[in-house]
Amino acid sequence: MPGFTLESLMLKNKSKSTSIVILLINIVIYISLTGCSNVDDTQLEQNEVFALINGTLIDGTGSVPVLNAALIIQAGCIEEIGQNSEIEIPDHAVIINLDGGTILPGFFNTHVHSDLNESDLKAWAKAGVTTVRDLGYIGTNSHEQLFLDRNALNTDLYNARMVAAGPLVTTIGGYGNFGVASVEDARFKVQQLIDSGADLIKIAIEDNLQGRTWPMLSLEEITAIVNTAHENGVPVSAHISRSTHLILAIEAGVDDVDHMIVDILPDSLISQMIENDIYWVPTLELWNGVSQMYSINWDDIAISNLRRFVSAGGKVAIGTDYGGYITEFDLGMPISEIRLMAEAGMSSSQIIVAGTKNAAYVCNLEEKFGTLEKGKYADIIVVENNPLDDIEALTVIQMVIHKGTIIHTVF
Ligand SMILES: [Zn+2]
Repeated sequence: MPGFTLESLMLKNKSKSTSIVILLINIVIYISLTGCSNVDDTQLEQNEVFALINGTLIDGTGSVPVLNAALIIQAGCIEEIGQNSEIEIPDHAVIINLDGGTILPGFFNTHVHSDLNESDLKAWAKAGVTTVRDLGYIGTNSHEQLFLDRNALNTDLYNARMVAAGPLVTTIGGYGNFGVASVEDARFKVQQLIDSGADLIKIAIEDNLQGRTWPMLSLEEITAIVNTAHENGVPVSAHISRSTHLILAIEAGVDDVDHMIVDILPDSLISQMIENDIYWVPTLELWNGVSQMYSINWDDIAISNLRRFVSAGGKVAIGTDYGGYITEFDLGMPISEIRLMAEAGMSSSQIIVAGTKNAAYVCNLEEKFGTLEKGKYADIIVVENNPLDDIEALTVIQMVIHKGTIIHTVF
């Protein structure tokens, strides 16, 4: 995201009253860009205060858990967080005793094709997945309508928040559904998508999947797409499946790559991914399903590549490709993906960071969501047992709080 300073918006040589108005506007913009503010959220109960007490806190940063933790939530935001003994509970707060349950950030699935299905969005939210990233709309609505529908669905806190790329940008006749014909056309159409409301741009760098072949975007076109998106403060996510595609994605400067590649990942590309801080969304559940369907070993190759990428220090975000292929996918907590990540050697702590902090980063939401810290939005789940002891604990959800509103609870 582009840098932002309050000073950069301060205008000189204006009358005093104009300057004050501008300053107030700037403060509102500043708060909305950098942290938790509900000036635009009329649906939230501004005066309702919750205190979650006696929990084990896993904040999503990868830090060691805090035992006997408490958390104060007001108007959608985390007001205070820390040990019970350090937190002063406001007199009017509704106190919820978690009785040793584990508090985590709301989870993400950063690779879905939701098709704007509201019952799916509700199922995700209830299972603790409070945000999904839609990486390619496959329906028939215009992208203008798609982004309006996204906005409408996002007003209901019982739905998982949807971050949407819109259509999958490709070359004419390529893998995807939004073709660009040249460098100039790429710039023009990507700008159109962003102006219509795209949260990010998804591109396809693909020419061959199991014998099905397509023409592919050139490096110049990919670079033009990435530059146009970045000039607008919008990230770019790239579909790839082979190391030849990964070379182009790294060269053009994309922000994350989707699908672990299914040929052997060269060490040199692992280094370049890490040097350029490019995140990986492996979609192991997809490769597992495809491998079983066609009796091939892409899942084994992907798991082995992921193991080497993670042990070298590479950053990973959870995403499954839900709805992106005819194979089965978990709706709700992406536990199959999580189990496969564990098979690739990721620790429970690394998996939790991949499902929260790193996932928020690839959604361009890391300033507001993905970790539990004072001043961030209250997207919170509580599970009965500690997932650091057994990652399966993520499937036993006791409470889901979406932007400060309790949408599911057993307490
Ligand atoms: Zn997909």
